[in-house]
Amino acid sequence: MEKITLHDKVFRPYITNQELSADIDAVAARINADFEGCDDVPLVLCVLNGSIMFTADLLKRLNFPLELNSIKMSSYVGTESTGEVKVTMGLTASLVGRRVIIVEDIVESGYTMEALKKMLEGKGASKTYIATMLFKPEMLKVKDLKVDYVARNIANDFVVGYGLDYNELGRNLKDIYILDK
Ligand code: 5GP
Ligand code: MG
Repeated sequence: MEKITLHDKVFRPYITNQELSADIDAVAARINADFEGCDDVPLVLCVLNGSIMFTADLLKRLNFPLELNSIKMSSYVGTESTGEVKVTMGLTASLVGRRVIIVEDIVESGYTMEALKKMLEGKGASKTYIATMLFKPEMLKVKDLKVDYVARNIANDFVVGYGLDYNELGRNLKDIYILDK
């Protein structure tokens, strides 16, 4: 794999799609073990656009009855979080009394997930879980945020690919790339 350029920045190969697949196998097994035999139909909530690939790959591995919804939020401009979370697309399913598994691309400060959990619980969700492809544990600001399912921990650098963008480019890369300093 070679370095790539998106807009003004250069990124180098970081995590291959094969490695991501193995991580997703492991995290899906954990989720299946926890939800196996459940008599509710949990709602899997894809947080667009970043988690579109992770959601697709995760869903294929989940083996309990579930429903899928998607939501669009944003808190990032360029390579830095703005700290402000916006919901730019709504939910269609009723959340009342339901368990919701949020599927996120990456958790950094945790503000996005904290705000989303609060919103979902405000709409009646009985319990919310976070399943994230990537987690930057050293960057977490919301110290009491429970990140239930993490496919892979990474360091503090900015990454793109596998759904993640740099100003909207790079989402279609099947591997993950890291900012080359
Ligand atoms: P948080 O609210 O946890 O700080 O940020 C979460 C959101 O910021 C993620 O859903 C993702 O959209 C974006 N984000 C955080 N770190 C990165 C990164 O390294 N690369 C990209 N492309 N987006 C990131
Ligand atoms: Mg996101």
